[in-house]
Amino acid sequence: MVSTGRHFLQIPGPTNTPDRVLRAMAAPTIDHRGPQFAELAREVLEGLQPVFGTTQPIVIYPASGTGAWEAALVNTLSPGDKVLCFETGHFATLWQEMAGRLGLEVDFVPGDWRHGVDPQQVSDRLTADPDHAIKAVLVVHNETSTGVTSRIPEVREAIDRTGHPALFMVDTISSLASIEYRHDDWGVDVTVAGSQKGLMLPPGLSFNAISAKALEASRSARLRRSFWDWQPIIEANQRGFFPYTPATHLLYGLREALQMLSEEGLPTVFARHQRHAEATRLAVRGWGLEVLCADEREHSGSLTGVIVPDGHDADQVRAVVLDRWNMSLGTGLGKLAGRIFRIGHLGDFNDLMLAGTLAGVQMGLIAAGVPIKPAGVNAALERLQKP
Ligand code: PLP
Repeated sequence: MVSTGRHFLQIPGPTNTPDRVLRAMAAPTIDHRGPQFAELAREVLEGLQPVFGTTQPIVIYPASGTGAWEAALVNTLSPGDKVLCFETGHFATLWQEMAGRLGLEVDFVPGDWRHGVDPQQVSDRLTADPDHAIKAVLVVHNETSTGVTSRIPEVREAIDRTGHPALFMVDTISSLASIEYRHDDWGVDVTVAGSQKGLMLPPGLSFNAISAKALEASRSARLRRSFWDWQPIIEANQRGFFPYTPATHLLYGLREALQMLSEEGLPTVFARHQRHAEATRLAVRGWGLEVLCADEREHSGSLTGVIVPDGHDADQVRAVVLDRWNMSLGTGLGKLAGRIFRIGHLGDFNDLMLAGTLAGVQMGLIAAGVPIKPAGVNAALERLQKP
Protein backbone atom coordinates (compact mmCIF):
# COMPACT_ATOMS: atom_id res chain seq x y z
CA MET A 1 0.00 0.00 0.00
CA VAL A 2 1.28 3.48 -0.81
CA SER A 3 1.62 5.74 2.24
CA THR A 4 1.33 9.46 1.90
CA GLY A 5 2.60 12.05 4.34
CA ARG A 6 5.20 11.36 6.98
CA HIS A 7 5.49 8.14 8.89
CA PHE A 8 4.81 8.73 12.61
CA LEU A 9 7.82 7.26 14.42
CA GLN A 10 6.43 7.20 17.95
CA ILE A 11 8.67 4.52 19.40
CA PRO A 12 10.74 5.66 22.38
CA GLY A 13 13.79 5.98 20.21
CA PRO A 14 15.29 6.18 17.72
CA THR A 15 13.31 9.40 17.43
CA ASN A 16 12.41 11.70 14.56
CA THR A 17 15.53 13.29 13.13
CA PRO A 18 14.82 17.01 12.55
CA ASP A 19 15.26 18.30 9.01
CA ARG A 20 17.95 20.66 10.27
CA VAL A 21 19.98 17.72 11.53
CA LEU A 22 19.44 15.74 8.33
CA ARG A 23 20.61 18.70 6.27
CA ALA A 24 23.64 19.21 8.50
CA MET A 25 24.65 15.62 7.84
CA ALA A 26 24.31 15.96 4.08
CA ALA A 27 27.79 17.40 3.70
CA PRO A 28 31.06 16.24 2.20
CA THR A 29 33.38 14.08 4.26
CA ILE A 30 36.38 15.96 5.62
CA ASP A 31 39.86 14.88 6.67
CA HIS A 32 39.43 13.56 10.20
CA ARG A 33 43.03 14.55 10.92
CA GLY A 34 42.72 18.08 9.58
CA PRO A 35 41.99 21.48 11.18
CA GLN A 36 38.34 21.60 10.10
CA PHE A 37 37.67 18.34 11.93
CA ALA A 38 39.50 19.55 15.04
CA GLU A 39 37.14 22.52 15.15
CA LEU A 40 34.09 20.22 14.82
CA ALA A 41 35.36 17.95 17.61
CA ARG A 42 36.00 20.90 19.89
CA GLU A 43 32.51 22.28 19.26
CA VAL A 44 30.68 19.02 19.96
CA LEU A 45 32.76 18.08 22.99
CA GLU A 46 32.16 21.50 24.54
CA GLY A 47 28.53 21.63 23.46
CA LEU A 48 27.78 18.27 25.06
CA GLN A 49 28.92 19.35 28.52
CA PRO A 50 25.88 21.46 29.48
CA VAL A 51 23.59 18.73 28.17
CA PHE A 52 25.16 16.22 30.57
CA GLY A 53 25.46 18.90 33.26
CA THR A 54 29.19 18.42 33.54
CA THR A 55 32.51 20.17 33.14
CA GLN A 56 34.31 16.81 33.13
CA PRO A 57 35.42 14.74 30.13
CA ILE A 58 32.89 13.14 27.80
CA VAL A 59 33.95 10.32 25.51
CA ILE A 60 32.08 9.78 22.23
CA TYR A 61 31.97 6.31 20.68
CA PRO A 62 30.85 5.39 17.17
CA ALA A 63 28.62 2.71 18.72
CA SER A 64 25.10 2.12 19.92
CA GLY A 65 24.27 2.56 23.60
CA THR A 66 25.26 -1.02 24.37
CA GLY A 67 28.85 -0.11 23.56
CA ALA A 68 28.78 2.75 26.05
CA TRP A 69 27.43 0.36 28.72
CA GLU A 70 30.42 -1.89 28.12
CA ALA A 71 32.83 1.05 28.11
CA ALA A 72 31.55 2.22 31.52
CA LEU A 73 32.22 -1.21 33.03
CA VAL A 74 35.51 -2.18 31.40
CA ASN A 75 37.16 1.15 32.10
CA THR A 76 36.46 1.18 35.82
CA LEU A 77 36.22 -2.38 37.16
CA SER A 78 38.32 -5.52 37.59
CA PRO A 79 37.47 -9.22 37.18
CA GLY A 80 35.38 -10.47 40.11
CA ASP A 81 34.35 -6.99 41.29
CA LYS A 82 30.82 -6.84 42.62
CA VAL A 83 28.20 -4.53 41.09
CA LEU A 84 24.80 -3.66 42.53
CA CYS A 85 21.99 -3.58 39.95
CA PHE A 86 18.22 -3.16 40.15
CA GLU A 87 15.60 -4.92 38.06
CA THR A 88 13.67 -1.88 36.91
CA GLY A 89 12.98 -3.36 33.47
CA HIS A 90 14.42 -4.84 30.30
CA PHE A 91 17.40 -2.53 29.92
CA ALA A 92 18.52 -2.84 33.53
CA THR A 93 18.30 -6.61 33.01
CA LEU A 94 20.44 -6.47 29.87
CA TRP A 95 23.07 -4.25 31.51
CA GLN A 96 23.53 -6.59 34.48
CA GLU A 97 23.68 -9.59 32.10
CA MET A 98 26.51 -7.85 30.30
CA ALA A 99 28.26 -7.22 33.63
CA GLY A 100 28.05 -10.94 34.38
CA ARG A 101 29.43 -11.86 30.96
CA LEU A 102 32.36 -9.50 31.51
CA GLY A 103 33.35 -11.41 34.65
CA LEU A 104 31.77 -9.17 37.29
CA GLU A 105 29.75 -10.51 40.20
CA VAL A 106 26.24 -9.11 40.04
CA ASP A 107 23.88 -8.46 42.93
CA PHE A 108 20.60 -8.01 41.04
CA VAL A 109 17.82 -6.68 43.26
CA PRO A 110 14.44 -7.92 41.95
CA GLY A 111 11.77 -5.47 40.85
CA ASP A 112 8.27 -5.47 39.38
CA TRP A 113 9.00 -3.33 36.25
CA ARG A 114 6.53 -0.72 37.48
CA HIS A 115 8.77 1.16 39.91
CA GLY A 116 12.13 2.87 39.77
CA VAL A 117 15.06 2.09 42.04
CA ASP A 118 14.06 2.33 45.71
CA PRO A 119 16.68 4.54 47.41
CA GLN A 120 16.09 2.72 50.69
CA GLN A 121 17.08 -0.57 49.07
CA VAL A 122 20.26 1.07 47.81
CA SER A 123 21.29 2.15 51.29
CA ASP A 124 20.24 -1.20 52.80
CA ARG A 125 22.39 -3.15 50.35
CA LEU A 126 25.38 -0.85 50.81
CA THR A 127 25.07 -0.88 54.60
CA ALA A 128 25.15 -4.67 54.43
CA ASP A 129 28.53 -4.43 52.65
CA PRO A 130 30.92 -3.11 55.34
CA ASP A 131 33.97 -4.49 53.48
CA HIS A 132 33.08 -2.53 50.35
CA ALA A 133 33.02 -5.53 48.04
CA ILE A 134 30.51 -3.62 45.89
CA LYS A 135 32.51 -1.48 43.49
CA ALA A 136 29.69 0.11 41.51
CA VAL A 137 25.99 0.86 41.67
CA LEU A 138 24.30 0.70 38.24
CA VAL A 139 21.01 2.49 37.64
CA VAL A 140 18.98 3.08 34.48
CA HIS A 141 17.64 6.62 34.84
CA ASN A 142 14.72 6.19 32.46
CA GLU A 143 13.64 2.60 31.80
CA THR A 144 12.72 2.72 28.15
CA SER A 145 10.96 -0.62 28.48
CA THR A 146 8.50 0.65 31.11
CA GLY A 147 8.33 4.46 31.15
CA VAL A 148 9.52 4.66 34.74
CA THR A 149 12.20 7.15 35.80
CA SER A 150 14.39 6.45 38.82
CA ARG A 151 15.06 9.33 41.20
CA ILE A 152 18.81 9.76 40.73
CA PRO A 153 19.42 12.52 43.34
CA GLU A 154 17.68 10.37 45.96
CA VAL A 155 19.75 7.34 44.98
CA ARG A 156 22.89 9.49 45.33
CA GLU A 157 21.77 10.64 48.79
CA ALA A 158 21.12 7.02 49.74
CA ILE A 159 24.68 6.08 48.71
CA ASP A 160 26.08 9.07 50.59
CA ARG A 161 24.16 8.21 53.76
CA THR A 162 26.08 4.94 53.97
CA GLY A 163 29.48 6.52 53.24
CA HIS A 164 30.06 3.65 50.78
CA PRO A 165 32.75 4.40 48.15
CA ALA A 166 31.12 2.49 45.22
CA LEU A 167 31.11 4.22 41.87
CA PHE A 168 27.69 5.42 40.70
CA MET A 169 26.89 4.68 37.03
CA VAL A 170 23.72 5.90 35.37
CA ASP A 171 22.26 4.98 31.98
CA THR A 172 20.59 8.07 30.51
CA ILE A 173 20.06 6.63 27.04
CA SER A 174 16.38 7.61 26.95
CA SER A 175 16.52 10.56 29.35
CA LEU A 176 19.44 12.74 28.28
CA ALA A 177 18.15 15.97 26.71
CA SER A 178 14.55 14.97 27.53
CA ILE A 179 14.37 14.64 31.31
CA GLU A 180 16.35 16.81 33.73
CA TYR A 181 19.76 15.33 34.39
CA ARG A 182 22.91 16.67 36.12
CA HIS A 183 26.02 14.51 36.00
CA ASP A 184 28.12 16.76 38.27
CA ASP A 185 25.51 18.04 40.73
CA TRP A 186 24.07 14.58 41.23
CA GLY A 187 27.48 13.05 41.86
CA VAL A 188 27.37 10.51 39.06
CA ASP A 189 30.68 8.84 38.17
CA VAL A 190 29.86 7.49 34.72
CA THR A 191 26.88 8.64 32.68
CA VAL A 192 26.01 6.44 29.71
CA ALA A 193 24.07 8.02 26.83
CA GLY A 194 23.15 7.49 23.19
CA SER A 195 22.54 9.67 20.15
CA GLN A 196 19.19 8.34 18.97
CA LYS A 197 16.69 9.65 21.51
CA GLY A 198 16.69 13.08 23.17
CA LEU A 199 19.67 14.14 21.10
CA MET A 200 17.52 13.70 17.97
CA LEU A 201 20.24 12.00 15.92
CA PRO A 202 20.14 8.74 14.05
CA PRO A 203 21.50 5.76 16.00
CA GLY A 204 25.25 5.29 15.96
CA LEU A 205 26.88 7.44 18.65
CA SER A 206 27.09 6.79 22.35
CA PHE A 207 28.76 8.53 25.25
CA ASN A 208 30.40 8.21 28.64
CA ALA A 209 30.62 11.29 30.86
CA ILE A 210 33.34 10.59 33.38
CA SER A 211 33.95 11.93 36.92
CA ALA A 212 37.44 12.45 38.33
CA LYS A 213 36.80 9.47 40.63
CA ALA A 214 35.89 7.21 37.69
CA LEU A 215 38.95 8.41 35.77
CA GLU A 216 41.09 7.58 38.77
CA ALA A 217 39.47 4.13 39.02
CA SER A 218 40.26 3.53 35.34
CA ARG A 219 44.00 3.75 36.07
CA SER A 220 43.94 0.56 38.15
CA ALA A 221 40.90 -1.23 36.62
CA ARG A 222 41.92 -4.60 35.17
CA LEU A 223 39.03 -5.66 32.94
CA ARG A 224 40.51 -6.02 29.46
CA ARG A 225 39.78 -3.21 27.09
CA SER A 226 41.19 -1.78 23.91
CA PHE A 227 38.69 0.00 21.66
CA TRP A 228 36.69 1.23 24.68
CA ASP A 229 39.70 2.57 26.60
CA TRP A 230 38.96 6.14 27.71
CA GLN A 231 42.56 7.26 28.05
CA PRO A 232 43.74 7.35 24.40
CA ILE A 233 40.42 8.92 23.35
CA ILE A 234 40.62 11.68 25.97
CA GLU A 235 44.24 12.36 24.99
CA ALA A 236 43.45 12.55 21.27
CA ASN A 237 40.34 14.68 21.96
CA GLN A 238 42.53 17.31 23.59
CA ARG A 239 44.01 17.94 20.14
CA GLY A 240 40.58 17.69 18.48
CA PHE A 241 41.06 14.16 17.15
CA PHE A 242 40.16 10.53 17.78
CA PRO A 243 42.46 7.49 17.88
CA TYR A 244 40.36 5.91 15.09
CA THR A 245 38.23 7.12 12.17
CA PRO A 246 35.33 8.99 13.80
CA ALA A 247 31.71 9.03 12.58
CA THR A 248 32.15 12.45 10.98
CA HIS A 249 28.60 12.80 9.65
CA LEU A 250 26.98 11.92 12.95
CA LEU A 251 29.19 14.57 14.52
CA TYR A 252 27.92 17.12 11.97
CA GLY A 253 24.43 16.12 13.05
CA LEU A 254 25.37 16.32 16.71
CA ARG A 255 26.69 19.87 16.28
CA GLU A 256 23.34 20.91 14.79
CA ALA A 257 21.29 19.07 17.43
CA LEU A 258 23.28 20.72 20.22
CA GLN A 259 22.63 24.08 18.58
CA MET A 260 18.88 23.33 18.49
CA LEU A 261 18.86 22.32 22.17
CA SER A 262 20.73 25.46 23.10
CA GLU A 263 18.29 27.64 21.12
CA GLU A 264 15.30 26.09 22.89
CA GLY A 265 17.05 26.02 26.27
CA LEU A 266 17.28 22.84 28.33
CA PRO A 267 14.70 23.87 30.97
CA THR A 268 12.19 24.46 28.16
CA VAL A 269 13.10 21.13 26.56
CA PHE A 270 12.48 19.32 29.85
CA ALA A 271 9.19 21.17 30.48
CA ARG A 272 8.00 20.35 26.96
CA HIS A 273 8.63 16.65 27.54
CA GLN A 274 6.86 16.70 30.93
CA ARG A 275 3.86 18.46 29.46
CA HIS A 276 3.56 15.98 26.60
CA ALA A 277 3.92 13.10 29.05
CA GLU A 278 1.17 14.57 31.22
CA ALA A 279 -1.18 14.97 28.24
CA THR A 280 -0.45 11.38 27.20
CA ARG A 281 -1.31 10.04 30.66
CA LEU A 282 -4.57 12.01 30.56
CA ALA A 283 -5.36 10.34 27.24
CA VAL A 284 -4.56 6.86 28.57
CA ARG A 285 -6.73 7.39 31.63
CA GLY A 286 -9.43 8.96 29.46
CA TRP A 287 -9.52 5.71 27.48
CA GLY A 288 -10.03 3.90 30.79
CA LEU A 289 -6.64 2.17 30.46
CA GLU A 290 -3.77 1.96 32.93
CA VAL A 291 -0.33 3.54 32.72
CA LEU A 292 2.37 0.98 33.56
CA CYS A 293 4.35 3.29 35.88
CA ALA A 294 2.87 2.78 39.35
CA ASP A 295 4.45 5.71 41.22
CA GLU A 296 3.29 9.27 40.55
CA ARG A 297 6.82 10.56 41.27
CA GLU A 298 8.36 8.35 38.61
CA HIS A 299 6.43 8.95 35.39
CA SER A 300 8.77 9.24 32.44
CA GLY A 301 8.86 12.45 30.44
CA SER A 302 9.99 10.63 27.32
CA LEU A 303 7.59 7.72 26.94
CA THR A 304 4.43 6.20 28.38
CA GLY A 305 3.85 2.47 28.80
CA VAL A 306 0.19 1.56 28.31
CA ILE A 307 -1.25 -1.69 29.69
CA VAL A 308 -3.65 -3.46 27.34
CA PRO A 309 -6.53 -5.23 29.14
CA ASP A 310 -6.29 -8.99 29.67
CA GLY A 311 -7.42 -10.96 26.66
CA HIS A 312 -6.03 -8.37 24.22
CA ASP A 313 -2.65 -8.31 22.52
CA ALA A 314 -0.71 -5.05 22.59
CA ASP A 315 1.21 -6.08 19.48
CA GLN A 316 -2.05 -6.51 17.61
CA VAL A 317 -2.92 -2.88 18.44
CA ARG A 318 0.52 -1.83 17.20
CA ALA A 319 0.08 -3.83 14.00
CA VAL A 320 -3.29 -2.17 13.26
CA VAL A 321 -1.91 1.31 13.97
CA LEU A 322 1.03 0.69 11.63
CA ASP A 323 -1.06 -0.85 8.91
CA ARG A 324 -3.89 1.69 8.88
CA TRP A 325 -2.33 4.90 10.14
CA ASN A 326 1.36 4.47 9.28
CA MET A 327 2.54 4.97 12.84
CA SER A 328 5.09 2.90 14.76
CA LEU A 329 4.54 2.44 18.50
CA GLY A 330 7.00 0.76 20.86
CA THR A 331 6.54 -2.95 21.48
CA GLY A 332 6.44 -4.55 24.93
CA LEU A 333 9.93 -5.85 25.74
CA GLY A 334 10.95 -8.92 27.74
CA LYS A 335 8.24 -10.03 30.10
CA LEU A 336 5.97 -7.18 29.00
CA ALA A 337 5.73 -8.54 25.43
CA GLY A 338 2.12 -8.41 24.26
CA ARG A 339 0.95 -6.79 27.51
CA ILE A 340 1.91 -3.18 26.88
CA PHE A 341 2.68 -0.82 24.06
CA ARG A 342 4.83 2.26 24.50
CA ILE A 343 4.15 5.73 23.17
CA GLY A 344 7.33 7.69 22.56
CA HIS A 345 6.95 11.45 23.03
CA LEU A 346 10.55 12.54 23.06
CA GLY A 347 13.01 14.35 20.89
CA ASP A 348 11.90 16.66 18.09
CA PHE A 349 8.22 16.79 18.94
CA ASN A 350 5.33 19.23 19.31
CA ASP A 351 1.70 19.52 20.39
CA LEU A 352 0.15 18.65 17.06
CA MET A 353 2.46 15.66 16.60
CA LEU A 354 1.28 14.43 20.00
CA ALA A 355 -2.36 15.10 19.08
CA GLY A 356 -1.89 13.09 15.88
CA THR A 357 -0.13 10.31 17.77
CA LEU A 358 -2.87 10.01 20.36
CA ALA A 359 -5.57 10.13 17.69
CA GLY A 360 -3.84 7.23 15.94
CA VAL A 361 -3.61 5.26 19.19
CA GLN A 362 -7.29 5.88 19.98
CA MET A 363 -8.40 4.79 16.51
CA GLY A 364 -6.05 1.79 16.67
CA LEU A 365 -7.40 0.63 20.02
CA ILE A 366 -10.95 0.80 18.71
CA ALA A 367 -10.04 -0.92 15.44
CA ALA A 368 -8.26 -3.71 17.36
CA GLY A 369 -11.38 -4.27 19.43
CA VAL A 370 -9.95 -3.11 22.76
CA PRO A 371 -12.84 -1.80 24.89
CA ILE A 372 -12.03 1.86 25.56
CA LYS A 373 -13.87 5.08 26.15
CA PRO A 374 -13.22 7.43 23.21
CA ALA A 375 -12.48 10.27 25.64
CA GLY A 376 -8.71 10.02 25.70
CA VAL A 377 -7.81 12.36 22.87
CA ASN A 378 -10.11 15.09 24.18
CA ALA A 379 -8.61 14.86 27.65
CA ALA A 380 -5.15 15.31 26.12
CA LEU A 381 -6.29 18.20 23.92
CA GLU A 382 -7.66 20.01 26.96
CA ARG A 383 -4.25 19.74 28.55
CA LEU A 384 -2.52 20.91 25.38
CA GLN A 385 -4.85 23.92 25.23
CA LYS A 386 -2.94 25.22 28.25
CA PRO A 387 0.73 26.16 28.18
N1 PLP B 1 19.65 1.49 27.80
C1 PLP B 1 18.45 2.02 27.56
C2 PLP B 1 17.72 2.72 28.65
C3 PLP B 1 17.90 1.92 26.27
O1 PLP B 1 16.71 2.46 26.02
C4 PLP B 1 18.63 1.25 25.26
C5 PLP B 1 18.06 1.13 23.91
O2 PLP B 1 16.94 1.49 23.63
C6 PLP B 1 19.86 0.71 25.58
C7 PLP B 1 20.34 0.87 26.84
C8 PLP B 1 20.66 -0.01 24.55
O3 PLP B 1 21.09 0.90 23.60
P1 PLP B 1 21.35 0.50 22.07
O4 PLP B 1 20.15 -0.25 21.60
O5 PLP B 1 21.57 1.82 21.41
O6 PLP B 1 22.57 -0.36 22.07
